Amino acid sequence: IIILAGAVAVLGEVYGDLLRAAGASERLMELLVLESPVQSPAQPVSVPLPQGGSTVRFEQITFHYPSRPDQPALSGLSLDVRPGQTVALVGPSGAGKTTVFGLLLRWYDPATGTITLDGTPIQRMGLQALRERIGIVPQDPVIFSSSAMENIRYGKPGASDDEVRAAAKAAFADEFIVRLPEGYGTFLGERGVRISGGQRQRIAIARAMLKNPPLLLLDEATSALDAQSERMVQAALESAMKDRTTLVIAHRLATVQQADRILVLDHGRLVEQGTHAELVALGGVYARLAALQFSA
Ligand code: ADP
Ligand code: MG
Repeated sequence: IIILAGAVAVLGEVYGDLLRAAGASERLMELLVLESPVQSPAQPVSVPLPQGGSTVRFEQITFHYPSRPDQPALSGLSLDVRPGQTVALVGPSGAGKTTVFGLLLRWYDPATGTITLDGTPIQRMGLQALRERIGIVPQDPVIFSSSAMENIRYGKPGASDDEVRAAAKAAFADEFIVRLPEGYGTFLGERGVRISGGQRQRIAIARAMLKNPPLLLLDEATSALDAQSERMVQAALESAMKDRTTLVIAHRLATVQQADRILVLDHGRLVEQGTHAELVALGGVYARLAALQFSA
């Protein structure tokens, strides 16, 4: 059992992002979770869904990945996000941005400190209940070998076709889907119609909007999109952030400028926070990233 748990932990670390991005492997992820030290509590508290977005609080979070016991990925991180806010996480590669998402989703538990969502420590919520209230738009969304309709429905299995179309419209995906050879019935994925990076992102945003979670975690793509795609994705993101709390790992100036607040991470610590103008004036880590146009 110990060997198996170890192997699963390694598998989780190596393939975790891929599996999670694929989403399809939810059942496999559940198996991984079964074997991982992260457990659903025996007596989970049920927390009503908040109106108008979640409240997120990190209190003095310290975390090491199991394979790196001597190198903290996050050190003494505290943060506070109020309902409906959009907060951008920025920082150099390796700063700990993705780790913040991983801890919120309880892929891992912190060594010290408490994370609360809507006033309840996340370790006291059922794992499934926790993950149900969080939507994720990954950096490089996976498109399955199935129709455009089913690709979006994945965000809320059992949703009606009308619900799927409404989400697609809100995510600016409808406009390209209706022009595919067979509209929503068009097969996508490896053996289907190939779609562009910007279109994949809009499918992922439509999935998240169909799920309609109070908390949205968005990992912005780093790869360049053409200007037209860029505008559509930006519009889709703005629509997705409405009436919910959003944490966005931001790589674009347009996104950070729209955020209510920017948190700058470096080496696992919160080193600066404020608005774009405030942080540029500060002349620190953020100002250097901004000068490089956030390619980190
Ligand atoms: P960012 O998203 O800001 O680029 P990460 O949160 O991915 O940074 O990483 C923070 C630190 O944790 C880095 O030092 C990184 O090398 C390390 N790290 C990230 N993922 C893992 C992992 N699965 N196993 C071990 N170390 C990791
Ligand atoms: Mg990252």
